[in-house]
Amino acid sequence: MATVEYKGIGKSFGAVNILRDVSFRIEDRQFVVLLGPSGCGKTTLLRMTAGLESVSEGDLSINGKRVNDVHPRDRDIAMVFQNYALYPTMKVYENISFSLEVAKMPVAEIKQRVERAAEILNLTPYLQRYPKQLSGGQRQRVAMGRAMVREPSVFLFDEPLSNLDAKLRAHMRTEIRQLHNRLKTTTIYVTHDQVEAMTMADVIVVMRAGKIEQIGSPDDVYDRPASKYVADFIGASAINFLPGTAASGAGVPAVDTASGRILLEEGSGVKPGQRVVLGLRPTDVTVAADGAIGARAVLLERLGHDAQLFCEGPDGRFVAVVDKGLRFEEGSEVRFAIPPSKVHVFDAETEARI
Ligand code: ATP
Repeated sequence: MATVEYKGIGKSFGAVNILRDVSFRIEDRQFVVLLGPSGCGKTTLLRMTAGLESVSEGDLSINGKRVNDVHPRDRDIAMVFQNYALYPTMKVYENISFSLEVAKMPVAEIKQRVERAAEILNLTPYLQRYPKQLSGGQRQRVAMGRAMVREPSVFLFDEPLSNLDAKLRAHMRTEIRQLHNRLKTTTIYVTHDQVEAMTMADVIVVMRAGKIEQIGSPDDVYDRPASKYVADFIGASAINFLPGTAASGAGVPAVDTASGRILLEEGSGVKPGQRVVLGLRPTDVTVAADGAIGARAVLLERLGHDAQLFCEGPDGRFVAVVDKGLRFEEGSEVRFAIPPSKVHVFDAETEARI
């Protein structure tokens, strides 16, 4: 069993306030991803959880016990760092077993734990090698093995895949997620990569400038982003934003933008005359002769399976994911349709979802 709870957590370095009023709870066995751009405070929150940074304000609890002042060693957590932090002069076996040896665990049990971790992580053939004789992915697995053998209640990962190339990163993220499916150890994983967050998390905590912007499942944050910021951050291709004004007198709710009148879902909550920003995902719009939105086609970028059509509209750049066989004349107008249920509406002032 391992739950982690943050209550009113704040952090300052000197006079600079880094985290403000962070409150949420991580349930046993959950895989939680802290997601946000560089500098938003996610690593600091992770390091506080590990006990590597002090807590300036609030209560941090693990398994219901306040741990603000508990030594890192006594928190029953294990952290995997971005740079792996392997000992270069030790072989893989020693790298993995080191913390157990320091803890004076009986040799036979150490051997059993290291061999089991090596088997799960496909490291058995490499136990007698030095880190420099391994690939990046293998080194990453050694770092994970070192955390695993301690059999902690909570795993903490700090951007563990950022030093790997794109292909290996994709491979390792499925490995880490499969490992979690197998071990079910409560996990907190820090990344600025929304793809990692979407593919690995049970719950995503989206952070912005030291505060939580939204907490939800990958589907929640993708389908119902709480703010323009979240809509912009989540999604493989950047969302289009169109400013507009809610139409008055229309039968169904609609927003007038410079690109056209866009219909919203029944009961969408906009008030006539309200200034809003619409978010339209490139994957949700389709090319249609009678579509509501018009923009001039500029460039088709083939992605293999499909393509992105870059357009210039009255509201600036507009991007749509289209069939790669689409024929168009550069500079000609293309029209796009979008189902009302796929239109995200944000208040122009507060940028919160309406
Ligand atoms: P990244 O992905 O770049 O690591 P992050 O979201 O994890 O970003 P943090 O590393 O938590 O962000 O840093 C948050 C802010 O706190 C940054 O502005 C950083 O400069 C500052 N900061 C971090 N550690 C310290 C420190 N020891 N002393 C002073 N400021 C710090």
